[in-house]
Amino acid sequence: TEQLLQKSEKLALLGQMAAGIAHEIRNPLTSIKGFIQLFKSSTHKEEYYDIVLSELDRINNIVGEFLVLAKPTAAVFAEKDVKELIKDVVTLINTQSILNNVQIFVEFECDLPKISCEENQLKQVFLNLLKNAIEAMPTGGNIDVKVKAKEEGKISIQIIDQGIGIPKDRIPTLGEPFYTTKEKGTGLGLMTCYKIIESHNGQLTIDSEVNQGTTIEIILPTITQRVFSLT
Ligand code: ADP
Ligand code: MG
Repeated sequence: TEQLLQKSEKLALLGQMAAGIAHEIRNPLTSIKGFIQLFKSSTHKEEYYDIVLSELDRINNIVGEFLVLAKPTAAVFAEKDVKELIKDVVTLINTQSILNNVQIFVEFECDLPKISCEENQLKQVFLNLLKNAIEAMPTGGNIDVKVKAKEEGKISIQIIDQGIGIPKDRIPTLGEPFYTTKEKGTGLGLMTCYKIIESHNGQLTIDSEVNQGTTIEIILPTITQRVFSLT
């Protein structure tokens, strides 16, 4: 039964990923279609050509990022440096943040312990949270990402935005599938984050003030704590 349950959970996660991919690919596709239509009569062919190419790159990146996740293989946990994962994700989302007038500041404590994680899943979490933070600031702003060691073999990752915020009574509904306040939202991003963090024995908490901003904190066990708990 446990195995069956795991399988159905995996399939559910896969379904969410599929919805996520569809959602993410629709935007660049719509833009490509628009530019191809303009292309016919335009004298700015060079420019449109470049835009179409970069939108195709975007689709390719998105598919690449999700592909590993969608593989129905067992998650492979490995020893990783959170710093590196976050750097990769910030690079990946850089274009989107610049286009939205958002600056991302990353702050690390020195000598942070490593964590045991499924790299692509954790990257997915950071990607979803950074995207939400960008989307919460329609006129731009700053995002602070702070990574610190916590007491007792734990590490804390905070993603702090200066966005529209979330009403207090809405916070408990955020892990539920399909809860979205966005026109083109899926309401699957946070649910996926909760699931992945749970599978890493971590915690995700949301603190928010309407019109002030939102802080998402992820607490993850570090390698030393895992070793300790096995003995
Ligand atoms: P989606 O982004 O597709 O709407 P999510 O599961 O990622 O789905 O988020 C669900 C909802 O939670 C969003 O529609 C939004 O209302 C709210 N939300 C999530 N993150 C933030 C944030 N950083 N600031 C404000 N609201 C947020
Ligand atoms: Mg989202």
